[in-house]
Amino acid sequence: MDRHGPRVYFADAFETLGALATGAASSVAYAWIGIIAALTYTLAGFAREQVCTWMCPWPRLQGAIWDPEALTVNYRDYRGEQRISAKKAEELRKNGQAAGDCVDCFQCVAVCPIGIDIREGPNFACINCGLCVDACDSVMTKLSRPSGLIAYESWANVERGRAGQPPLRRVLRPKTLGLLALVVAFACGLGIALQHRSTGSITVFHDRNPMWTTLSSGKIRNGYTLRITNKTGVLQRLTVTLQESDLALTLVGPSPLPIEPGVTIDVRAMVTGDVGQATAVTFEAREGGKVVLSATDRFASPPS
Ligand code: SF4
Ligand code: SF4
Repeated sequence: MDRHGPRVYFADAFETLGALATGAASSVAYAWIGIIAALTYTLAGFAREQVCTWMCPWPRLQGAIWDPEALTVNYRDYRGEQRISAKKAEELRKNGQAAGDCVDCFQCVAVCPIGIDIREGPNFACINCGLCVDACDSVMTKLSRPSGLIAYESWANVERGRAGQPPLRRVLRPKTLGLLALVVAFACGLGIALQHRSTGSITVFHDRNPMWTTLSSGKIRNGYTLRITNKTGVLQRLTVTLQESDLALTLVGPSPLPIEPGVTIDVRAMVTGDVGQATAVTFEAREGGKVVLSATDRFASPPS
């Protein structure tokens, strides 16, 4: 029985740090650190907001799930326009005239990581971080004006505000219900897939040279290597048999086969049959009497 350890995808952080410092880490570790550092420097140092706008899938996703009732960061233009300086706005208000709340200070644009001017309307590249909301609220507070000139608000409510209508909250809409149904369907699919996930794998390698040997009894013997992997987190004890067949199986190794979690083993198997009995042969691995893995190959024999 030949045993392979689990494939290592992750290395211990502290051990790797020590190995990196002493130059003993693998070349793969140094290469990946170099690649990730170069990518980070390029994306965060040069590409910056272009990454958010052109590379990030979020704008595409937001475009697909957005509708006018969606709660996103918006500028209440019916309150902010016409833009005017704080001093002039105060004078107009003193004279009983209307004045917009936006003082065109550009604080909302300056803080935006993507460089959006949200006053120009909804923007699909907006990540709804709310930095412009906070920046504008602090400007409004300093000017003793109500906060919320930029706020989490639906575009439909901005349009209602323009028409002098009160805001509405419509949480249950065809799009939200459809998206909810999709999420539930995906969650169910994931749950079913997890329930039916394979607990391991078995692969059969038929000996090539020779395909068969003739025993002194006249019987024909084929040799196979069974590669069995335990994908569970517990020790498996597998009993390997042949599916209903006139062929006889001899395994080289203990039965049941103990297989540690995450480990792959190679087991030699000999199958004996009669001359001319070329047929399919199915190996089954059972645990607790239940077939958990199976694989089919050919039993080769000279013609009778
Ligand atoms: S919410 Fe964030 S990303 Fe969107 S416009 Fe405001 S600051 Fe920019
Ligand atoms: S922070 Fe507010 S007041 Fe200043 S430009 Fe933006 S919307 Fe206008």
